[in-house]
Amino acid sequence: MGAFPPLRDDLGVMAGYHSAQVEVDVRLNTNESPLPPPPAFLAGLAEAVAAFPMHRYPDRTCQALRADLANLHGLQPEQVFVANGSNEVLQCLLLAYGGPGRAAAVFEPTYAMHATIARMTGTAVASGARADDFTLPGVEVRRVLAEAAPSVTFLCSPNNPTGRAEPKDVVEEVLELAPGLVVVDEAYGQFASWSSLGMVGDDVPLVVTRTYSKTWSMAGARLGYLLGPAQVVAALWEKAALPYHVDAVKQAAGRLALRFTDEMEDRVALLVSERERIAAALALLPLDTWPSDANFLLFRPRARAGREVWQDLVDRSVLVRDCSSWPRLAGCLRVTVGTPEENDAFLTALEAVL
Ligand SMILES: *Cc1c(COP(=O)(O)O)cnc(C)c1O
Repeated sequence: MGAFPPLRDDLGVMAGYHSAQVEVDVRLNTNESPLPPPPAFLAGLAEAVAAFPMHRYPDRTCQALRADLANLHGLQPEQVFVANGSNEVLQCLLLAYGGPGRAAAVFEPTYAMHATIARMTGTAVASGARADDFTLPGVEVRRVLAEAAPSVTFLCSPNNPTGRAEPKDVVEEVLELAPGLVVVDEAYGQFASWSSLGMVGDDVPLVVTRTYSKTWSMAGARLGYLLGPAQVVAALWEKAALPYHVDAVKQAAGRLALRFTDEMEDRVALLVSERERIAAALALLPLDTWPSDANFLLFRPRARAGREVWQDLVDRSVLVRDCSSWPRLAGCLRVTVGTPEENDAFLTALEAVL
């Protein structure tokens, strides 16, 4: 019998990305939708599943789903790539365009999975720093791009966990300066007032990623996609994705969801108004907070350690995200916008704790 081989050295340094899951009544830690999809969606999906040829492989390149998504966004089906959550979309991108000897650029603080997936795929990570107000200075962009010549440059708009959408001129500047592909992660795109989607085209080295996990209330389904140049999309299907990686049930769910766009937009409108209500309430408390274009808010208690406040909230059965050990976020917590009742419970608990 052989011995267990050591893990790849470059995996050893990865911390992993986990959100503490504790039993609480009010769960505001992972930016999911607090509301399920409409009953008619679930009923339609059950009906579709009952009639499924489960013994057959699914459509390998998701033709029908891609046609629907292309239609939704005014692009071509050849410009749509689909995978099991947008994290897998990013993994496929880095398998195809990153890898040993190449670098991916990120600007901290930002979504931790960009750097984590880069490392998983053997891609070096070049980190830039956002300013104290978490905007992205042009001089820092130029420094990182010049030093690392990354084949992939990540932006996240709105940025998780800081909340703001990247201004259009910043995306344009990064696109102008980046020597390789620019990825704009728009997991929260529907909450923001503008999108980079209008800049996608076959001659532009830009891809925009979206997910069903947040606004579509389908985190449990694991479905995400990318919109970008046809040549990039073709490379992902042919070189990076496993055969039949998107199962038939998910393809059907993804198509069916798009028939409930009005309901999705209603949920987004509710969450945006609740976000503004929470922001107004936070402004009256002894904490620092930042404007958000997403379904979450970042805040930093002034007089108490973030970790202690997090624990006190858990003791009151409210779970938020503890970001206090993340790069550049000492003392910070992130709260997902929930239902009005959940948000009331959060605000009441927070006021008591502070
Ligand atoms: C939640 C989130 C995702 C979603 O990942 P899925 O794999 O689609 O669930 C992607 N990017 C960012 C920035 C996120 O916050």
